[in-house]
Amino acid sequence: MPKAYPEELRSAFAQLGSFLTYKAARHGVLLLQVNAAYTGQQCSACGHIDRKNRPNKAEFCCRRCGFSLGADRNASINISRRATTSLRLQPTSRTRPDRQKLELQARSFRVE
Ligand SMILES: [Zn+2]
Repeated sequence: MPKAYPEELRSAFAQLGSFLTYKAARHGVLLLQVNAAYTGQQCSACGHIDRKNRPNKAEFCCRRCGFSLGADRNASINISRRATTSLRLQPTSRTRPDRQKLELQARSFRVE
């Protein structure tokens, strides 16, 4: 989380992350963390990133390809895709621990 956010908010998100990590491990659920930067502005159809893709808080409409969808749904597709991609990027090994017990850190997808 960027340092521009107040300390209280960064602390709250850190605590949420800690709770999620604990609960996921306790129940054997795979937890993936992805860089959420621009997931709300990125088109899940063509990948174009533009602040103007969001005409308002609820809607997403790509300025390049015209794809439109609810903003939350579009962002969730982007997040899911990043998580799926991060799984494919994990090295394969016979000694690798069970995926269900791993907490994986996805690669950064930040677009500057
Ligand atoms: Zn698009």
